[in-house]
Amino acid sequence: MSVFIIDHISKSYITNKQSCCVLNNINLTLPDSGLVSIVGKSGSGKSTLLNILMGIEKPDRGRVLFNKTDISKMKDKTFSDYHLSGVSMVYQHFNLFDNQTALENCLTPLQMKGMPKKAAISKVTEQFQKLGIESLLNRKVKNMSGGEKQRIAIVRAIVTNPSAILCDEPTGALDKNNSNAIMKILKKISERILVVLVSHNIDLVNQFSDEIITLKDGRIVDKISNIKNRFSNQFKKEKSKYSSKWTDKFFRGNLLSDFAKNIFSIFACAFSFLSIMLSVGFLVGSKTSQSNAINQNLSMNFSTVSQTEFLDIEGSPLSYQKTIRPEINLIDEKFSDFHSLRVEENLSFFISDYSSVYFNEKQILNYEMVPLIDESLEAFGNELIVEGTTINSEFDEVMINTEFMKLLDEKNPVNLEIIISSNSVVKYSTGDKDNPYIKDNFSYTKRFKIVGVVKEFSFLNNPKIFYSYNGAKEFLKTQKMVNLSLYKNTPISFYSYLENCSADNEASSYSNFLFVTDKNELEKFFSKVKELETEEDEIQITSSAYQIKQTYQTFIESFSSTLIIFVLITFLGVNFILGMISLSTFIQRKKDTAILTCLGARNKSIYNLYLLENYSVVTVAFIIAISILKFCENKLNLLIENKFGLNNLIDTPINNFLGIPFGLFIILFFLFAIFSTLFTVIPMFIYRRGAIVNELRDE
Ligand code: ADP
Ligand code: MG
Repeated sequence: MSVFIIDHISKSYITNKQSCCVLNNINLTLPDSGLVSIVGKSGSGKSTLLNILMGIEKPDRGRVLFNKTDISKMKDKTFSDYHLSGVSMVYQHFNLFDNQTALENCLTPLQMKGMPKKAAISKVTEQFQKLGIESLLNRKVKNMSGGEKQRIAIVRAIVTNPSAILCDEPTGALDKNNSNAIMKILKKISERILVVLVSHNIDLVNQFSDEIITLKDGRIVDKISNIKNRFSNQFKKEKSKYSSKWTDKFFRGNLLSDFAKNIFSIFACAFSFLSIMLSVGFLVGSKTSQSNAINQNLSMNFSTVSQTEFLDIEGSPLSYQKTIRPEINLIDEKFSDFHSLRVEENLSFFISDYSSVYFNEKQILNYEMVPLIDESLEAFGNELIVEGTTINSEFDEVMINTEFMKLLDEKNPVNLEIIISSNSVVKYSTGDKDNPYIKDNFSYTKRFKIVGVVKEFSFLNNPKIFYSYNGAKEFLKTQKMVNLSLYKNTPISFYSYLENCSADNEASSYSNFLFVTDKNELEKFFSKVKELETEEDEIQITSSAYQIKQTYQTFIESFSSTLIIFVLITFLGVNFILGMISLSTFIQRKKDTAILTCLGARNKSIYNLYLLENYSVVTVAFIIAISILKFCENKLNLLIENKFGLNNLIDTPINNFLGIPFGLFIILFFLFAIFSTLFTVIPMFIYRRGAIVNELRDE
C-alpha cells in the first residue's frame, strides 16, 4: 500500500526575473510505513518537495495524491482534516509555541480534533512516558534544550495518529547524541507509519533508512530501497469532529502578550466612544437647552420699530434714505394679525443709555436702559428673578441683570441704590428768523433702589438696568418744558412734546417702542421680524433678544456640523488605529498562524482568535466609556453652564435613541464591531496559504 503518489510534479521559482526549476517532473510512490530519506545538496529541492507533500506549497505541474485525494485541491475543511489526521510535520527549528508548556503544545492538535481535555492530557502524558520525558510536561518550552524541544515536536506530530510524518532536517540543530536518539524515535515510529526524512547527515541516513532517494537538479537520480517485511500501516481513520476550543488558550496568551497594546487600544477606543456619545448628547441636548436658554431674557418681548423713507433729490436721479418714527397706522397694518402688540413712545432720548450711573460714587459705564411693562414682567419676569422682587410702576425703582451686578462688584445689591443722572436738550424750531430755536433742558439726578436681580442667558448679553416704562412716562409728563410753554403760552410737558413731535424729530429717536404682551405670540413675532428683514421692508424691527437668538442659533448650528465631522473623523480614526493594531498583531503572529494552519487549524478559528481579541478590547472600552459617561457629561455641563449659562447642553440619550431602547449604545457597539471585524478580516483575507511556507522556512 502507498500513502503518497507523487505524479509528475514540477516546481519553479522566479528569482531575479529568471525562472529556476527546483523540481523537474518527479514521479514517486511512497509506502505507507517505513523511514524514507530524501538526500541531496543544499538547494536541491528537498524542502520544497516536503512542503508540497504537506500541502502548503503547490506544484506548477502534476499532482500529489494522498490516499487517492489530490491535496492541492483541498478546501479549508479537508485541508484541516488532512493535517489533523493525515500528515504532520517536524521541523529543524521545532516551531513550537515557546510561551506554552510542553503539554499545552501537544494538546492543541488533539483539541482541534475535538478530543475532550482529560482524554487529550492522558494521551499526551502516555506519549511522554513512552519517550521517558514526562518530567518536561509542565515546563515552558522556551527554557528547554534543542533535544527536548525536538522530542516534544515529535510527540505533537504523532499524537494525532497521522498516516505520515514529514521531518525536514529534524536533527539539523542537535548534537550527535540527541541526533541519534531522535533517529531512534523516528525509526520506531516508522514501524507503524510513514516517516519521510530530509537530512544532511549521511551516516544517520544510511544507518536508519528503509529507502533513500537522492535529488539532484530537481530530479531523482538515485533510489535505494531495502524495505523487507515491514508491518503494514496500522493507521485507522478515527472519527473526529473539529473543535475550536483550542483557541481559548491562545486567546488568553495573546491578551497577555499584547497587554500594553491592548491597554492602549482600550483607551483609544474608550475615548472615541466617549466623545461620540457626548457629541450625540450635545446634538440632542442643545436643541432643548437652546430654546430654554434663549427664552431666559427679560427684554425678550421688547423691541424698537422704525421706518425708512426714501426722498428724491431734486434735479438728480438719486434719492436718499432717512429713518423716521413710523406712523401708528403703518405699524397696525403690518402687524394686523397680531393681537398683543403695544406701541409706545421711544423714551431713549430722555432715559438714555448714555445717562451717568453711579454706585457708591463709582461711575458705571456700558449698560443698557431697558423699559419694562407690567405684562412683560408677568410673562417673562418671575422665573428669572434670582434675588429680590419686581419693580413698582414708579420711576424710582430698578431691576438689574447679573451682568450689571458684576459691574457693581457687590454680592447682594438688593435694596442698595444707584444714582442716575441725565441731561438732554430739546430744540424746538420756531421758523422765526430772529429766534429760530426754543431750547429746553431735560435734566434729572435721581436715586433708584435696586429691588431685584435677574439672571438672563448670558451669551452676548449686556449689562442692563430695567426701569418701569409707565413710571418713566408719568415722570416725563410731570416735567414741564419751561421755555416752550412760555413761548406757546400753554403748559407743555416733555412727554406731550414727544407725543406730538414730527416723525423726523430727534427727540422721537426716530422710532417707537414695541412690546409683545402675549408670550405665545413671540415666536410668530420673531418670524415676522425675519420676514421684514429679508424683504427689506420699509419697517424695521430692532430686537436685541432676536439678534442674540439668531446669532446663537447660527453658532450652535455651525458647531453641530463641525461636531458631526469630528465624530466621523474620530470614528474612522479609531477604527483605523484598531485596524493598524490588529494588522501589526497579525504580522507579528504570522508565524504562529502558519504553525497553527499546519497543525490543522481552520481559517475560521484563526479569524475568530483575532476577532475575539478585538471584540474584547471594544467591549472593555465600551464599558469604561459608559461608566464614566455621566461623570464627564456633568463636568462638561457644569463648565458650559458657568461659561454660557446654558443648562444641560449635553444630554446623552441613554434610555432611548431613534426610538430604540439604549439605541445609542447598541448602534455604536455594532458599528464598532462591524468595523473592527472588517479591519481584522481584511488583512487575514489578504493572507494566503502560500505565505505559510515562507514563515516556516528554516534558514
Ligand atoms: P533544500 O531544502 O534542498 O535545501 P529548497 O527546497 O529549500 O532546497 O530550495 C530549493 C531552491 O528553491 C533553492 O535554490 C531556493 O533558493 C529556491 N527557493 C525555495 N523557495 C523559494 C521561494 N519561495 N522563492 C524563490 N526561491 C525559492
Ligand atoms: Mg531545506
